Amino acid sequence: MKKGINGKTKIIGLVGENIKNSLSPYIHNRIIVKYSLNFCYLPFQVKKADLNNAIEGIKALNIKGVNITFPYKEKVIGFLDEVEESARRIGAVNTIVNNEGVLNGYNTDVVGFKRSLQEVGEFTVKRKKAAILGGGGAARAVIYSILEEGIEEVYIFNRTLEKAGKIKQDFSSFFPESSIYIFPLEKESLKDKINKAHLLVNTTSIGMPPQVNNTPLPDEKLFHPNLLVYDLIYHPAKTLFLKQAEEAGAKIINGLPMLFYQAIESFYLWTGLKPEGKELLEVFR
Ligand code: NAP
Repeated sequence: MKKGINGKTKIIGLVGENIKNSLSPYIHNRIIVKYSLNFCYLPFQVKKADLNNAIEGIKALNIKGVNITFPYKEKVIGFLDEVEESARRIGAVNTIVNNEGVLNGYNTDVVGFKRSLQEVGEFTVKRKKAAILGGGGAARAVIYSILEEGIEEVYIFNRTLEKAGKIKQDFSSFFPESSIYIFPLEKESLKDKINKAHLLVNTTSIGMPPQVNNTPLPDEKLFHPNLLVYDLIYHPAKTLFLKQAEEAGAKIINGLPMLFYQAIESFYLWTGLKPEGKELLEVFR
């Protein structure tokens, strides 16, 4: 068979509202080339009003599957045939698999965060305490992931306290052995809890362009050397949040390993092939 795209090539891709700077097409197509698979990963920039038609189009065009990104991870659930249990509980889908006309939804951000913590952070969650900044879709996947791994206490800090409260309400009954506490994203409440925490994760979008001079933490003195500090943002590679954490002696991780490991998991769902993790990640650093 000739190399390159041909009549048997299977199409996978990314659906989002503004995906021009996404790394996903690059990551997936690199993996496809490395393993000589007859797949091609394409970006599909979709307007809000067209989401339903775009998802229907997956069946019509016999696309094997797609990643779903901001701002469609929650909304897309209504257009799917089946949704895997953790994705349903989290309320967000980032991967769709087209199984001969049946659209199945998954959330591979959960595994992405879990593997990045274990393999890059060398961090064990069991019986630890974590402070999470933010209460949006990414926070829900991160919190679900550490609850599954047996975190002892989770402190959620969010500007909109009701959203943090909803996470507590949605997740508590599934993880009765862990305790979830909610707070406003303010210095006074942060101080005591970050002091006790082993893991601090920024899941807010503060630090992304154009907010690169901003940080979600109101006081850099709150960092301490016993923390693993994780920022889900990967562009810029080192946010002000991570720079200040590093200066305080904390170990840091940016969002690239999570993005990478969720990509590997999605890739496996579409192709049945699980690329080597850590080794391949080095290629993208
Ligand atoms: P989202 O659902 O829109 O949530 C955004 C969060 O940021 C909310 O908690 C929001 O607080 C908070 N926030 C935004 N601006 C704020 C401000 N000025 N002050 C205080 N809080 C503010 O978005 P998401 O999907 O969770 O994504 C969040 C971040 O995670 C993005 O940077 C995204 O790129 C990143 N992400 C990375 C990966 C990865 O693989 N590395 C995966 C998923 C997401 P309110 O609730 O009060 O609005």
